[in-house]
Amino acid sequence: MAQWLYSEASPATQREIARVRAHELGAHWVGSYEDNGISAYTGAARPSLDRLIAACHAGLVDVIITFNISRLSRADPLDVVPVLIDLLDRGVTIVSIVEGEFRRGNASDLIRLVAGLNAAHAESRSKSAAVSAVKAAARELGGYLSGKAPYGFALAPETRHTADGDPFVIQRLARRDDEAAVIRHVVGRLLDADSPATLTGIAAALNADGIPTRGATVGKQTANSAWCLRTLDRIVRDPRVAGFAAEVVYADRTRPDGRPSASVAGYRIVRDPDGRPIEAHPRIIDPETWFRLQHRLDRRPTRAAPLDPPRPALLSALGILYCECGAAMKSHRNTRHGFRPAYRCTRPRGVRRPGDHAGDCTISQRALDEHVVGNVFAHATGSDRSWWSGAPLDERRAFVALLVRRITVTKAPGPGCRAPVAERVSILLTCGILVSQVSFAQAKPAASLEA
Ligand SMILES: [Zn+2]
Repeated sequence: MAQWLYSEASPATQREIARVRAHELGAHWVGSYEDNGISAYTGAARPSLDRLIAACHAGLVDVIITFNISRLSRADPLDVVPVLIDLLDRGVTIVSIVEGEFRRGNASDLIRLVAGLNAAHAESRSKSAAVSAVKAAARELGGYLSGKAPYGFALAPETRHTADGDPFVIQRLARRDDEAAVIRHVVGRLLDADSPATLTGIAAALNADGIPTRGATVGKQTANSAWCLRTLDRIVRDPRVAGFAAEVVYADRTRPDGRPSASVAGYRIVRDPDGRPIEAHPRIIDPETWFRLQHRLDRRPTRAAPLDPPRPALLSALGILYCECGAAMKSHRNTRHGFRPAYRCTRPRGVRRPGDHAGDCTISQRALDEHVVGNVFAHATGSDRSWWSGAPLDERRAFVALLVRRITVTKAPGPGCRAPVAERVSILLTCGILVSQVSFAQAKPAASLEA
């Protein structure tokens, strides 16, 4: 007799009890199937239950042990009962540790089965309704429901009570004085009557002044730890800084794995039936100023390069390509006609130590790729290049990553001054060979090479 335990979010003890029960039945243990954390009520797919049913159909399982029948499914009994009756008809026995055995052709078993499923469904439906009710109440009370607080705010939990006196917690947005001051400063600079600043310029100034971003404050070592145009644009475009309730609008894109995009495209003000914005949070700047700023920003749209889906270049994101200032270089390309792909220093604007290059440092992707590949083959033993031109990008990247430890790019001497790539690049190969025509007196890769 083959048997299977089906239990949802089963702790080890439940599994152990089922094993003991299986032993008592003289059954041969086939395995246990669990759908952790998937609520049957939401109609989310339950692949484990489906696989279990398939295994029964295939004759691999003839006893299902479950902790109680409600664990088997909380979906509508009208959908589940026919499936289970079909299993019983095929000779499968369902054993519930709590409720006993269910067998084919036994009317009272069938009634107990339906009753058990119905109770589970009702419980889950009322839980679901209770959650919705609490969410609606929280929203009415000005609660903030989605994840983290936007810049300028902190989450402030508040305990409220339902009509029945049950406590629940809502999150409100409270002003964060340090971040609110930054927002007011930024808005003031953007609306400066004499010389309005640009978002890019302000981002650079904030970096130079060492004003921490939210990412830097919470200690995240990500790209968010310096100010950039996008971060600032998002902050001053957020209606919540003017106290309005707002919904996040996500970019209309899907990620490579098919999930919807998580990148914020903008915000939508939540309005009452008369079209008036709903005020839900403390204000950081007054609504009139905020609307004036939106008008100003709309008239002079920020010139951020369109975001391309990430497409790796030969040398980017391998951990080998660095600017002379020590920052990594990454692929910089966009869809504009005539745009020449380049590698670009990722040092955030305004973060500049003494002796570091000023402004951007970029180098042509085509020129650098050719230079590096030429040198790699020149120094690789048995330098047969014939496979290279036909090889997919993945293989080429893997090959380069294998043979190159570090590439350091120095900034071109001046605008319009085109130094040959070889004079701007040093390559340290894995075998220890250093290929360099860079004058170390000008640049300073000697220290960073071994970093
Ligand atoms: Zn740099």
